[in-house]
Amino acid sequence: MLPGSFRTRIASVVILLLLLVIGALYFAVQAATDAAVRSQTGEQLDAGARVFGHLLDRRGRQLHGAVQVLAADPGLKTALASGDSEAIRAVLASHGAQVDAGAVMLLDLDGRLALSTERQIDGQTARRLSSRLVAGQGAGVSSVLMPVAGGIYLLAQAAVAAPLPVGWVLMGVRLDQALVRELGELTLLELTLFARQEGVPVVWVSSQPVSPRGGAQADLALEHGAAGDLRRIGTERYLERRLVLARGDDFQVEARLYKSLSPAQRAFAPLDWHILAIALSALLAALGSALLLARTVSQPLRHLAAAAERVGQGDYQVPLELHRSDELDGLAKAFHAMQQGIAERERQLAHNALHDALTGLPNRVLAQEWLGSAIAAGRPTALLYVGVGNLRALNDSCGPGSSDLALQQLSQRLQASLRPGDSLAQLMTSELLLLLENSDGDSAVAVGDRLQQLLSQPLRIGNQEVVLDCCVGIATYPADGETPDDLLRRASIAMQDAAQLPGRLQMYEVGRDAAHQRQIGLIRDLRLAPANAELLLHYQPKLDIAAGQVRQAEALLRWRHPQLGMIAPGEFIPLAERTGSIQSLTAWMLEESLRQLREWNGRGLRMQLSLNISTEDLVDAKLPTRVEQLLMRYRVPAEQLIFEITESGVMVQPELALQVLHELRELGISLSVDDFGTGYSSLTQLKRMPVQELKIDQSFICDLDDASEDAVIVRSTIEMSHSLGLKVVAEGVELACSLRLLEHWQCDYAQGHLISRPLPAEAFEAWIAQPLKAPVLKTS
Ligand code: C2E
Ligand code: CA
Ligand code: CA
Repeated sequence: MLPGSFRTRIASVVILLLLLVIGALYFAVQAATDAAVRSQTGEQLDAGARVFGHLLDRRGRQLHGAVQVLAADPGLKTALASGDSEAIRAVLASHGAQVDAGAVMLLDLDGRLALSTERQIDGQTARRLSSRLVAGQGAGVSSVLMPVAGGIYLLAQAAVAAPLPVGWVLMGVRLDQALVRELGELTLLELTLFARQEGVPVVWVSSQPVSPRGGAQADLALEHGAAGDLRRIGTERYLERRLVLARGDDFQVEARLYKSLSPAQRAFAPLDWHILAIALSALLAALGSALLLARTVSQPLRHLAAAAERVGQGDYQVPLELHRSDELDGLAKAFHAMQQGIAERERQLAHNALHDALTGLPNRVLAQEWLGSAIAAGRPTALLYVGVGNLRALNDSCGPGSSDLALQQLSQRLQASLRPGDSLAQLMTSELLLLLENSDGDSAVAVGDRLQQLLSQPLRIGNQEVVLDCCVGIATYPADGETPDDLLRRASIAMQDAAQLPGRLQMYEVGRDAAHQRQIGLIRDLRLAPANAELLLHYQPKLDIAAGQVRQAEALLRWRHPQLGMIAPGEFIPLAERTGSIQSLTAWMLEESLRQLREWNGRGLRMQLSLNISTEDLVDAKLPTRVEQLLMRYRVPAEQLIFEITESGVMVQPELALQVLHELRELGISLSVDDFGTGYSSLTQLKRMPVQELKIDQSFICDLDDASEDAVIVRSTIEMSHSLGLKVVAEGVELACSLRLLEHWQCDYAQGHLISRPLPAEAFEAWIAQPLKAPVLKTS
């Protein structure tokens, strides 16, 4: 049992209480028995005292009778008459012997001692005794007790008449130890007689061989100090009565009667043993039951504590049952309910932590765990990363909440398509992951293809049918990575690459990871590029073929990255368009072009500049206003600007884009269709656009020869454009023969390395100051 434990405390409290009760009971019983012993002993003492009185009285009367017999004895009278003192003494002695009288005296009428059988008694004493007896006789007392010559005597006297009074006879019985002991035995008491003379104790006679106090002096000395009638003598206690037997002017005789309390006490002695036995058994019983009680309380408490500890360690499985019918059982039930509540909430929390709230699908963390265990077990696994491109746009077209509905339907559709061993997770709002265990790249592509078909089936949102734009990227373990993070990232890269492909399905390609990392870095740094003065413009001349001169140039953006060096626009422009930084690049490019034009104008170099305008710029309704403000600020005529746009740029939001284009055109800016031939639109569609120029894409120009298919396309495009009143620019002219053909077909402008590469502003100025070289010049 632990010190200070619950059990110890209960046991000690119970035992303490019990000890108190037993103690109180014991003392109460002690007090009662003591009182009973004293009263019983007191009664015996009183009875003994009465018997003692009677005995003494009888003895006195006996003595009185004997002395009267002596006084009337004719033998005494004869002896007196003869005057023979020996004869008188013999008579006296013979009478005295009959009643054991220690002293018999003869006194004359005047009280003088004539004769005594006891030599120690002198005349003076005899006279005193006699006068005392005479005084007593007057009061009807027949005998008297007095201290005489070192002893206590019971005395009686009678007058001797022959027939006239001649004297007195006096008889005294000495109360010696034998007599006192006899009296003590008769009364069943211990007895001590005291005599005092002039207040000083002179005699004591005790029924015991030695005084109970060890001596008269000690006993008498106690007389003053002792209080009450209880006296401890040695180890025994006595009850005491004091009787004054006789009292004179100068003496007093006193009896002390003692009765020991021990006999009465002995009668009660078994009671003490009984109490002790009862106390011990009660103590044992109490201790036992206290321990039992403590056990019945502390054991369930220990169970509860152990259960609480288990719960603290996250173990909610063991049910807590006490099988009792008291408050502890209630506590255990409440505890059990609490444990289940915690377990349920923890399950919920764990589920929430690992599942998506909307679809209930496992989330990224769980997917990573699955992957981790597949990797740990070395199971080949394919990751199909599904991205939904147009999820957000659904909320705009089909109303708020549509994207959630679509996602739920999509996830249900995917779940229904799962084969045993496949698992589905939701990584982000619009990104899901399908894990195919024991699957290689080829079978993953087959599954991905089927998935594509499944996902391209229209969904029904409200009363609208929508088709989700789903891209599937595939990565496989162990081919594409060794860790869940690598695999997930690469599958996601494949998914992003898939978004650029018509089939919307792509396997991860080695090296795309590094390219992706570079892209992320570029996207991050691109935002700061304009402010950090990392951007610059190069200018590529546009040759007016018919005039054989250069009056136009295309401004092409360059980025000098502080760490990576020159970045080609082919790399960073699509990134900027995807991530929304293109508008800040366009703003910078616009301002820089106008500044350059202003500078050149100032120096008499009057150029028309073609500027590339992205799709994202065309859906910005404020673009025309901003351009107008810039034109005013730099005081450059709008006619010096040509904006190159792509067909696809107009197709995204045709109404807004057309509106912007018209406003730009109204400012006086010319519009040119870039990369013509790569898109889907036809020349007739161009009629709706306020364009003045068309740039045939360089893919048609680069290896142009008379007989090729491209030649047909280029030639017919030139003719059709002219019939629509559009100027035609051929891009990417690298060969003199191409230029000759273009010239022959009456193409208006040529742009390409044959004429010049894009040049920095200063180099461009220097280039343009020189005359054109031979292959560029017109042949006819
Ligand atoms: P683009 O508008 O088609 O520009 C023509 C591209 O063809 C330029 O590439 C130019 O250097 C290149 N080129 C010119 N002549 C030849 C040639 O004879 N042979 C070959 N192989 N290539 C030739 P660059 O400068 O790398 O620009 C690439 C694309 O970046 C541009 O294509 C344009 O779409 C975009 N871009 C460039 N600057 C800007 C800009 O300021 N804003 C926007 N939005 N896009 C820009
Ligand atoms: Ca261009
Ligand atoms: Ca182009």
